[in-house]
Amino acid sequence: MRVVIGGGTGFVGRELIRLLKSKGHEITIISRQPGPGKITWAEVQSRGLPPCEGAVNLAGENIMNPLRWWNESYKQDLIYSRTNTTRILAEAIAASPTPPHSWVLVTGVACYKPSLQTHYTEESEWTPFDFLSHLVKDWEAAGQLPENSARKTRQVIIRPGAVLGRDGGAMKQMLIPFWLGLGGTLGSGRQPFPWIHVSDLAGIIAHALQPTEKLPNEPDVFNGVAPALNTNFEFTKELGMVLKRPTIFPVPGFLLDVFLGLERSVILTQGQKVVPKRTLESGFEFQYPDLSSALKEITGSK
Ligand code: NDP
Repeated sequence: MRVVIGGGTGFVGRELIRLLKSKGHEITIISRQPGPGKITWAEVQSRGLPPCEGAVNLAGENIMNPLRWWNESYKQDLIYSRTNTTRILAEAIAASPTPPHSWVLVTGVACYKPSLQTHYTEESEWTPFDFLSHLVKDWEAAGQLPENSARKTRQVIIRPGAVLGRDGGAMKQMLIPFWLGLGGTLGSGRQPFPWIHVSDLAGIIAHALQPTEKLPNEPDVFNGVAPALNTNFEFTKELGMVLKRPTIFPVPGFLLDVFLGLERSVILTQGQKVVPKRTLESGFEFQYPDLSSALKEITGSK
């Protein structure tokens, strides 16, 4: 299969490309920068979608960039980098004389309102309530294909929690403090911490790219989270145990609010209990269903 991947140069994209290439698929990356094996977003707009059987969008300005202060310009970049690239791909798919059979958009669990009680499945109703949930709403709307295209192309939305892996995402920023014995719970520690190992997220995307007979008008949604429901406290203790380091330095929630901005710190200080109900029902088997196996693989511990 030929697969076009927007934002394929990033953390998740690199893992997805490794997996797809190992299965013999051909990849074209859509990037802001031209280069071998890549086309630019401007080229997709001017020349249309290259022939492909699958399309994925992973592009977006990094939400947890510690070097960027939380302000209007950053927030606009977060929105535009996602909605614009997603719209370009959806429009190119709709205009293609030979559209792909699958179109996979990766968004996030921020659409579900943080709660200590509620369990969210893909079938849960949600309405936007804050900056991040509005972002998810606009992002997913930008990917929606017109009805006549939806009859030819299967639309899938995958909503991941924090993606854990050695080469990027949250772990890259956390491993050094934890190695130094400076790790600790964030805020109360009681908040749910929805997470997924990057290999499993790549696996769910590859699974969603498979052709299917069923072509509903509305996108299929898969929660991209491990089946284990963990809190931030459990994650912190498990990481400390795997690294054989103490985790005695809690980070107060107000410090995160100040440094990250309230609208962004909710990702760390609050959380949702997200269940991958349809992901499991679709037959996907997690390689890393629990924290212990995921963190041992990531840290290289036995
Ligand atoms: P990355 O931060 O690695 O970024 C992916 C790619 O997006 C980059 O390689 C870059 O490609 C492109 N990009 C970055 N900034 C911009 C911009 N301003 N405009 C257009 N393109 C841009 O993302 P991940 O691989 O970690 O995540 C993939 C997707 O999954 C993202 O949309 C992310 O929001 C979502 N997600 C990720 C989670 C995580 O924990 N990592 C959790 C939940 C959701 P290039 O430079 O080639 O243009």
